[in-house]
Amino acid sequence: MERYLAQPGKKVSLNDWDPNDKSEFKGNKDKAAERLLELNNELEELQELLYAEGKHKVLIVLQGMDTSGKDGVIRRVFEGVNPQGVRVASFKVPTPEELAHDYMWRIHKQTPGKGEIVIFNRSHYEDVLVVRVHNLVPENTWKKRYDQIRAFEQLLAEEGTLVLKFFLHIDLAEQKERLQARLDEPHKHWKFNSGDLKERARWPDYMAAYEDAISKTSTKFAPWYIVPSNRKWYRDIVIASILVERLKALKMQYPAAEAGLENIVIE
Ligand code: AMP
Ligand code: MG
Repeated sequence: MERYLAQPGKKVSLNDWDPNDKSEFKGNKDKAAERLLELNNELEELQELLYAEGKHKVLIVLQGMDTSGKDGVIRRVFEGVNPQGVRVASFKVPTPEELAHDYMWRIHKQTPGKGEIVIFNRSHYEDVLVVRVHNLVPENTWKKRYDQIRAFEQLLAEEGTLVLKFFLHIDLAEQKERLQARLDEPHKHWKFNSGDLKERARWPDYMAAYEDAISKTSTKFAPWYIVPSNRKWYRDIVIASILVERLKALKMQYPAAEAGLENIVIE
């Protein structure tokens, strides 16, 4: 899965990354479903260990265009994980109070504590994405943010947070289908937001903003993964696999038992 890592220091060109990739699961959706189930179970165990050990903090950042599947990942990848151990923080258009502060104020408050997994559904990256595309702040303000974001994520990592960032990579044609489905299927109407069409019209600007954001902020301590996401089931396997690998690499241990447990008799 390391092939989906955006190498730190290298300029990313999203055209080089195939959103249709489905790798060894080509034409074998059943095998993929089985694999996801295994990964779900592994994640469940790793989350329990993370909580029991109470040492590490885990921050998962999900970014992607509308319909890229951020909500789907949260539903499917974390299926089976104890809801007490995972928290989702969704970042919407900032409130007046949030806007009165620096852009990291609302973000830092939501970062994970020891033993906790927090999933960011959108994040501080919106402040170099939508904010840049729509000139919501002057260029010399957003340009400084890449360094600020790197420093912020370094702080989190040095204080014991595993930071993993996923860009859900779909293409324009796939987005069209997914938006069309929101129009065609009554139970999806609630998800249709005509504002999304305005963002869609700015697709090339968004891709340029994503390329810059990923290139400038994929680091050893907070890497970006570019996840092929035209196939939902493959997207889920990629993210779940990376999470399992990276959590295993923490070499977590259950805390030592109290002394003398073997002599206890419960009357
Ligand atoms: P959704 O994720 O579909 O619920 O939409 C949330 C909306 O909030 C998206 O259109 C984001 O671009 C927008 N949003 C999130 N963060 C910011 C931000 N910092 N500034 C402006 N818009 C934002
Ligand atoms: Mg939306």
